[in-house]
Amino acid sequence: MVWNYQAALITLGITALSAQAATTNYTSTVDPTKITIPDIEQTKSHDPAAQCKYYQPPFTVNPKDWPTSWEIATSNGMNSSAEFTALYNSIDWTKAPNIQPKGMTAAGGLNLQSYDTVNDPDCWWSASQCTKPKKADINPDIVQCLEPNTWGLTYDDGPNCSHNAFYDYLEQNNQKASMFYIGSNVMGWPYGAMRGLKDGHHLAGHTWSHKLMTTLTNQEVLAELYYTTKAIKFVTGVTPLHWRPAQGDLDDRVRWIATQLNLTAILWNLDTDDWAANVVAGVTPETVQQNYKNFIQMGSNGTFNTVGNIVLSHEINNMTMDFAMQNYPEIKKNYKHVVDVATCMNMTNPYVEKSITYPTFEQQVNQNASTATGSGVSPAASGSSSMGTQTTVNGALFIAALFGVAASLF
Ligand SMILES: [Zn+2]
Repeated sequence: MVWNYQAALITLGITALSAQAATTNYTSTVDPTKITIPDIEQTKSHDPAAQCKYYQPPFTVNPKDWPTSWEIATSNGMNSSAEFTALYNSIDWTKAPNIQPKGMTAAGGLNLQSYDTVNDPDCWWSASQCTKPKKADINPDIVQCLEPNTWGLTYDDGPNCSHNAFYDYLEQNNQKASMFYIGSNVMGWPYGAMRGLKDGHHLAGHTWSHKLMTTLTNQEVLAELYYTTKAIKFVTGVTPLHWRPAQGDLDDRVRWIATQLNLTAILWNLDTDDWAANVVAGVTPETVQQNYKNFIQMGSNGTFNTVGNIVLSHEINNMTMDFAMQNYPEIKKNYKHVVDVATCMNMTNPYVEKSITYPTFEQQVNQNASTATGSGVSPAASGSSSMGTQTTVNGALFIAALFGVAASLF
């Protein structure tokens, strides 16, 4: 049985909303099908110091068009800019769920004390792990790959300037992942984001400044989402349809605002906690390796016989990228399939631009089967093929496949 996310939603009477009312102004001079990356030490070296030296971006950036890097996305006058004002005013805020921004504790965490966690009226993930909106006209979250025995591979917080060895490793294994990029990083390390797309990874947003989204005002939530999507489009030429909130912190108010921008959240159902090693008290590298081990075992002990997972891991530093590479061979051995989320959900068009498409799950699986011998490196992924294994799917064929799948599902 092959799941098709869109077909399943349609058949179940749930619609991934695409009627976008918001006035966006995403621009780019980059053709996503013809990305070129210069041969410089920042893009080639495996030495973190050499990779993380500043370089001039390949396009002109007008600082007046962008929030301050790593500050809330309403910064640098964005909150009153003509562009953002037009966007904000194009949204009918009378329809927004009447939910107040959540409070923070003195220690900087979310204040869950005053929230009715039992009834969870806001579908607040941080309180209840709720992912099915309770208010109308909101895109539901994606939390696990629907294909059985499948590991949904995701990395947050990139593009990291020192990711060359990691991206080379994924490329050598013809392995695609969903990459949740922070807007400030995309503008800071544009070649990193361009490589992500060129290598065939599924790009999605991870906010501009990595704040806890439910604590922000409507205006701030909108700006965090908008300027991240704008950054990814500006740098790579594609406009993502997916995003992930920092720490999974979202509720129906944040989801509703994301829906106005055509964005659907992708969360996870397994968390490696890789970023926390030697950062959070009690979490060591061994803790993280044990998490990986447990999740890997689930691939062969029947846990995912009827449905797959989505695993949260990070591109945040070389430690987390090393965890990913060290555990990858065992993941491959214990799971039938290891794929990015667009592929496992059969979302062949995860961007507004239809020039870039992703293989269906079946196409990817068949391709892996035909290249499963030898080093595991697909010939298609080596050399200078500009889009890796991404294929152009004929629209009519895609529609036929979609309904074919729906018919076989039910
Ligand atoms: Zn993050």
